[in-house]
Amino acid sequence: MKIGVLADTHDRLPAIKKALAGFGHHNVETVIHAGDVVAPFAAKRLLSCPGRLYVIYGNNDGEREGLKSVLPQIQDGPLTLELGGKRILIHHFADWCTPDHIAQADIIITGHDHEVANQRRDGKLYLNPGECCGWLYGRCTAAVLDTELMSAEIIEVAP
Ligand code: MN
Repeated sequence: MKIGVLADTHDRLPAIKKALAGFGHHNVETVIHAGDVVAPFAAKRLLSCPGRLYVIYGNNDGEREGLKSVLPQIQDGPLTLELGGKRILIHHFADWCTPDHIAQADIIITGHDHEVANQRRDGKLYLNPGECCGWLYGRCTAAVLDTELMSAEIIEVAP
């Protein structure tokens, strides 16, 4: 199963648009956003993503009720899903994952530090799609996760 993964979009609408187009191009079946959407107007742009959208709050998602009205499924992490036969843990910040959370997951998806991580370790995949917004490092990225292969491809989504 292919899953589009993004995080830290921080209102950068053209990069969100590019990421969703990239997910469509890769035929993803579902999309995961690991937090820091920020404004409800940016949340609206996520509604056109291919497939179902799972999304958690990040530390900069201050307008919680506004976001919830656009994306009723948004919740605090950790969120645990079973998709494509794999247990997926989603938390905005890697440091918030407890050893217990990690022990029970095959794939750990985080964001927050705006840096790409795409690492296999101890049979688990640790994935941070990097900053979709590009505000911090100037590189707008997202990821296409393949649950069967337990690997992810980082895609450039520069507006
Ligand atoms: Mn953050």
